[in-house]
Parts: sequence; structure tokens; C-alpha cells
Amino acid sequence: MDSEQLREYGHQMVDFVADYYQNIENYPVLSQVEPGYLLKLLPDAAPNQPESLQSVLDDVQSKILPGVTHWQSPSFYAYYPANSSVAGFLGEILSAGINMVGFSWITSPAATELEMIVLDWLGKLLKLPQEFLSSGHGGGVIQGSASEAVLVVLLSARDKTLRMVGKSALGKLVVYGSDQTHSALQKACQIAGIHPENCRLLKTDSSTDYALSPEIVNEAISHDISIGLIPFFLCGNVGTTSSATVDPLYSLAKIAKSNGMWFHVDAAYAGSACICPEYRRYLDGVEEADSFNMNAHKWFLTNFDCSTLWVKDRNALIQSLSTNPEFLKNKASQANLVVDYKDWQIPLGRRFRSLKLWMVLRLYGVENIQNYLRNHIELARYFEVCVGQDPRFEIVAPRKFSLVCFRLLPPVDDNEAHGSNKLNQDLLEAVNSTGRVFITHTALSGMYILRLVVGAPLTERRHIYAAWKLLQDEACTLLCSPLQ
Ligand code: PLP
Repeated sequence: MDSEQLREYGHQMVDFVADYYQNIENYPVLSQVEPGYLLKLLPDAAPNQPESLQSVLDDVQSKILPGVTHWQSPSFYAYYPANSSVAGFLGEILSAGINMVGFSWITSPAATELEMIVLDWLGKLLKLPQEFLSSGHGGGVIQGSASEAVLVVLLSARDKTLRMVGKSALGKLVVYGSDQTHSALQKACQIAGIHPENCRLLKTDSSTDYALSPEIVNEAISHDISIGLIPFFLCGNVGTTSSATVDPLYSLAKIAKSNGMWFHVDAAYAGSACICPEYRRYLDGVEEADSFNMNAHKWFLTNFDCSTLWVKDRNALIQSLSTNPEFLKNKASQANLVVDYKDWQIPLGRRFRSLKLWMVLRLYGVENIQNYLRNHIELARYFEVCVGQDPRFEIVAPRKFSLVCFRLLPPVDDNEAHGSNKLNQDLLEAVNSTGRVFITHTALSGMYILRLVVGAPLTERRHIYAAWKLLQDEACTLLCSPLQ
């Protein structure tokens, strides 16, 4: 590593990224390239001799950026957001610069200890119960994704149960969530060896705003027990992926507890909002959960990746995930004096991810982050009001955070589901192909609906207004054109 080259190239690169952000509104939000476009533009082998940074940056500008979907664009409203910020970016630079691999405490004590401290800070901001903090038997850990978070707790819960009932009972173990639970749960079940039929995604509908009904959970568990199966894991949601629904955590926790099950809460997107006192109520009941997950890389100004997971019983994780080969042995670990995060996750190696979260909290402060979140929720409310005032559209599910679910209604004489679904597919295609916004869809009760999530740090009211006008214009064109 040549420090002088780093200084020179680093300045050039920061300028490049700063210019990218300055011009981000000029790029089509959704990349408009065709599959395989890049193969045609780049050589088919690596260069033998070094090239200049400038020639690489020229290629980034002319060949890579056209194939980028601009998640940081103020007009990116798809999926859930993936925030970046100056603080998060600087934290990434620092982490890349130090470039340590902190799997055990000894491999970089600061990495482990900062992660523990910052997760305690964030845990306190979320008003998580004391048992989730590092001072007791629990603690927080940064995973790469919510998918890894649910996998590690599912493995811990599985093994905890199997230690009680015997390993041969694996095929009898049953997992429960709602049909709105992210597919990460299903993937975790596949990896954990849960029988495919024993991952119960219980039905929800509009009568509960797509929240999991405790009665349905109770019924499913009772039925499974009566046929000799072993319920062991229940996943509740605070902010489902389709409509940001919140499950009734208290009731679900009670059911899990009375059946000796692990209760995990997935708040990947909406958890961030719960640092605001007025939204904290959505976490009520988390006190009774065994684990809680929120992606700071979604809506908390922390560059990808940074998925924060808290557990009450860190030993459950360690019992499932710990290995202790000779080549990793050291005094601090052997004496049980330290946390070795390698035993709380799937991989061995891990990055210094707490730096960026620490920098976000320090450079912005809690009040600014709260106001940042509130602003997005207010912008979503503004969009919701616009939709509500146009009789050609309808809001499909109640809005709690910064996600609005809506659809274009079919003309009165064409009110069957198929026509409506096709109409909304066409509307989505029409607005996204302009490159001026990127919006995605989901299905609720068999209806194809559109989702607009406010969450990009650069989004302002004028962007929301422009998105709404574009939707209205394209809707006008579709409704006026003869049926295909
Ligand atoms: N849970 C919820 C509620 C989500 O919305 C998502 C992704 O959007 C996930 C889990 C999976 O997130 P990750 O990509 O971090 O695995």
C-alpha cells in the first residue's frame, strides 16, 4: 500500500463519487440496459500491464454506470431503501483502510468492543429490554443481512430444541410465520434442514391488514402438536415487505412462550422508525422476544451491509455456531473473557462494520436521525394524500411508515381482477421505463399492487410530486388507450 498513491487516487475517487451524487438525478433510476450488455463492452481477459485510474474511471462512467440502478437516486422508491450517507461512506473508507478481519476478540479488540458498544447504544435507542444488551446473557451482533440473522437464530432455536427432544426429531420440527413473512425465513428453513412442509406460512388477509392472527397461530400449533409434530420457532414482523404490516407481538410472544418456542422479530425495514418515541409502540411486545433484527443498512443512513441482531441468550448462538480449532486458540478466548463474534455468525471472517454505524450516530446525532426518518414518513403521507384525492386510484393497505401501497382502479365496466392486475402491471412498466422513477410491486389478496417507499436520503417533496404527476400522466394514457 503506497500512501502517496492512496492520497492522490483517494482524492480522485472521492471527487468521482461526489460528482456522481451531484449528478445522480440525471441518470435513469432503473438501468435500461439489456442482459449481457457489459460482455460486449469489456475485454475478455484481465490486462497484463497496469492501467491508469483515469482510464478505469472513464470506463466506470461510460460502461458501468449505464448498467447501475441508482438506489441512491431521490426517485428510487422500489423494494426497501438502502441508505448511504456521508458518515456511512466515511465509515466504509475507514473500515477498508484498516482492513482487519475481526473474527475473534484478539484479531482486533477494538472491532469486537466497538460493535458491542454501538449495538448497546442502538438497542437503548430502540428501548430494547435490558436482556438484549451486552451486560447480561445476551447482546447484539452485526450480520451481513436479515437473511443471515434469521438463519443464525433459527439454527440456535433448532439445536436448543433438539438438545431437549433428541436429534432424531429434526423431521418433526415446525416453524411458523405469516404468508407476509420475508422469504428469508423459508430459505433459513431450507438450510436448517426443516422439512419443507413444516414451514408454515399462515394465511393473512385484509381483515387484519395482513397481520398474523394469534388465533390462527394457536390453531396451527395445537393441530401440529396433536399429530405429533414439535413447534419450535415463530417469526413476527414489524414492517412486512409487501405492506409494512406489524404483527401483534405481545400475543405472538405469549403463544411462543407457552409452547416453549423461540420468538424472533423481523423489523428489517421499519425497526429504524422505532427510535422515534411516537413509533416505538410498534415494538411493544419485543420485551418477550428471543431475538430482534433491524437492518441499519436499509433506513438508518448506514451503507450496506449492516444488519443488527440482538439475542437474549448468546449461548444459544454459540452452542450452534462455535468451533474451536487449534489455530484459532488464544488466551483471552480460552479464559472466556471476551466475545468472539465468529461464534455468532456463519462465516469466520468479518469486517469492521460497526465503524460506519458509530460514525452515523456520532456525526448526525439521534435527533437528526429521528427527524430524517420523520421527514420520509411525512413525504409518504403527502404521496398517500395525493393518491387518496384521485378517484382513479385507491390506497390498498393502511400506511404506518414510509411505504404506500396503491393501485390504479380499472374502468367501472372492466372490474374483474385480471383487468386490474394487467392495468397496474402496464402502469408500472410505463413509469419505470421512463427512467424517471423506480417503483416495484407486490401481491396482496391476489391483487397486483404498486408500492412506493420513500427512503432515499436525497428525496424531497418535489421528487414525490414529480413521481405522482408521472403516475397520473401514464394512468391517463393507459385509461384512454383502447383495450388490448
Ligand atoms: N425481512 C424483511 C421485512 C425485508 O423487507 C427484507 C428485505 O427487504 C428482508 C427480511 C431480507 O433482507 P436482507 O436482504 O438483509 O436479507
